[in-house]
Amino acid sequence: MPTGFPAAASLQSNRTFFKKIPVPPSRPTPTRPIRFPRSEAWQWPHGARAAISLTYDDGNANNLDQAMPDLEAAGFRATFYLQTARADMQLRVADWRAAHARGHEIGNHTVHHWCRTQPYLEQLGRTPAWLTRPLESVSPAEIAAEVAAAADWLDQHIGTDPDRTFAHPCGALAIGVEPDEASYDAAILQRHFAARSCLTAVNDPATVQMLRIGGFDGQGAVAQPSITHCEAALATGGWTVLIFHGIGGPSHTFERAAHQELLAHLQARDYWVAPVKTVGRFVEAGQRASGRVAAGA
Ligand SMILES: [Zn+2]
Repeated sequence: MPTGFPAAASLQSNRTFFKKIPVPPSRPTPTRPIRFPRSEAWQWPHGARAAISLTYDDGNANNLDQAMPDLEAAGFRATFYLQTARADMQLRVADWRAAHARGHEIGNHTVHHWCRTQPYLEQLGRTPAWLTRPLESVSPAEIAAEVAAAADWLDQHIGTDPDRTFAHPCGALAIGVEPDEASYDAAILQRHFAARSCLTAVNDPATVQMLRIGGFDGQGAVAQPSITHCEAALATGGWTVLIFHGIGGPSHTFERAAHQELLAHLQARDYWVAPVKTVGRFVEAGQRASGRVAAGA
């Protein structure tokens, strides 16, 4: 694994990526406006007023050693998106498999973590070394094979899971020079019913598309930006998905104390905390029942 891989590969969107080299000082991130009215008809399980999914990308070992113990002490299960070719992740495959058995979702983050290179060219003047294949050069057949190969690896080494979800590396939704989202979507739908992107923090359960579940990157030294987005879900009855990478690691990290503070907040309020696949299936069923199946669901 090349030095610097986690930071570069963790980029979640063109807009947010360049704030991350180097890891920026933490500061509150303004909450985006909530664009949907509270749906009185939408009911979360257990009388919860909002749903929260915690996600951790790339397969960092500190997810196993620091995030999971804290999550499980709080009684929570989360989603961990693995890049399956990552050698240091594969060294811990038995631990990832055990995590799956304990109820965590182990999701698909592709084999090679291909991203679009154009944002790097514009901002850095080069393609980073870890980006072995820009999505601009990937064909529909190749992205289908890439998604399927990671899904196969997970089935074989982690365990089959018909509800397993996908997370777009770098938050990039399209292949091709002319952005082609439809072919990427089709590749995902061959194996998964839902995918997390990074478009927004709070999802409206009545209308969210299953291939465009939004997430918010909560990395940093303090918990407040993440808590703010969870509170926004409480205010609207929404579903907030938080994105993390390293927990307590040396770079591109969410500090462990902040992680623990966030979990304490989630325990203290009326949240339903569950993996993306669990909330996604619940939302999918609710949309079907209401006749409002969103395109792509
Ligand atoms: Zn990633």
